[in-house]
Amino acid sequence: MEEADLLAFFLPMHTATRLFQKLIDKVRAANSHAHLCGYGLYAPLNDALLRRLGVQTVIGGEFEQGLSDLARRLSVTRSGELPYRQPEPLISMARQQFRVPDRTGLPALGAYAQLVTDGATRRVGYTEASRGCKHLCRHCPVVPVYRGLFRIVQRDVVLQDIRQQVAAGAQHITFGDPDFFNGPGHAVPIVEALHSEWPELTYDVTIKVEHLLNHRELLPVLKATNCLFVTSAVESLDDEVLDKLAKGHTRAGFEEALQLMRATGLALSPTFIPFTPWTTLEAYREFLRALVDLELAEQVAPIQLAIRLLLPEGSLVLELPEMRTRIQPFDTRALCYPWQNTDGRLDVLCSSVQELIKRQERRHQSRWDIFRQIWDLAQAGEFPVDAPMVSRATIPYLTEPWYC
Ligand code: SF4
Repeated sequence: MEEADLLAFFLPMHTATRLFQKLIDKVRAANSHAHLCGYGLYAPLNDALLRRLGVQTVIGGEFEQGLSDLARRLSVTRSGELPYRQPEPLISMARQQFRVPDRTGLPALGAYAQLVTDGATRRVGYTEASRGCKHLCRHCPVVPVYRGLFRIVQRDVVLQDIRQQVAAGAQHITFGDPDFFNGPGHAVPIVEALHSEWPELTYDVTIKVEHLLNHRELLPVLKATNCLFVTSAVESLDDEVLDKLAKGHTRAGFEEALQLMRATGLALSPTFIPFTPWTTLEAYREFLRALVDLELAEQVAPIQLAIRLLLPEGSLVLELPEMRTRIQPFDTRALCYPWQNTDGRLDVLCSSVQELIKRQERRHQSRWDIFRQIWDLAQAGEFPVDAPMVSRATIPYLTEPWYC
């Protein structure tokens, strides 16, 4: 690192950007002459802040071309002689011809999150068949960058990337596409080819409720090609909140999608944002009760019961008129606009649930036990004695739960 002329940091998530913030002083101390670049989804959202930290080039959206142009320019010009304004677009939507990712030098797959299924673990690889999204959910960090567009990664590149990870020991592939059914005509042939080449290989994808309903005829195809589970950003079981977030589905739609998935024999892994500025205490209790009624209490990772709406720079939630009075100035350390619920009990409950999960996961408590304790904390009423309990071992999950 000390000798490098270009140091480029991948900032695909909020957490990665916060880690970068913590690292930047050490990086500068180790190499004060390198040109610094931040790229990935969260880079353009935090453009001003990154530049204050000394980052000279910021690239978002389809970033590979910009990165390679920057590297080429730096190979013939010293960083200090580059023009003050970067010629690379801050956000590029240009269609690219991808190359197979070079994974040389990365840690072995065993060092990353593993899949747990039926009590056994499987080594997991990761790839993307598309990026961006054609939807405009208000809370989603993809939207301010891709603005309703998505871009595909060429099929042969995706399959070759899977091939190299299978050769390195992958037994399961996580598709990181924001939504696998943005382009089913692209996605489905990929999983069919995957299954025909590696019949034992399993995979998981993320698909929104609306797409599960609109493309229900494709669910058996996912099952037949060894899809182990589908993650879906359900976010809320309260139709009012779903409307604020412009999610494009209702609670009834989610319940229908859940039934369709179960009828197909596919596991659904819903994710939630239970703490929003509009959440009431009764709505949170009702959320817990609904998870029990829907036999989901064990299928939801505990952290999903504690997530608080994140408002990064550029979030479309900020456009809602009521948010003007609810948010505080941008917090440059937390990289978000802090907000408070008008009912202070919700903010206290959120912190208590987060603390409880942290404590009990350290003690390796089961999801079921943690759920019961959250239920008590929220004073959700008498716990149903006949609550259906699904064994966690039957539900596949990744050892690192998904959240931004
Ligand atoms: S939440 Fe999902 S469906 Fe909505 S815009 Fe983001 S990626 Fe697309």
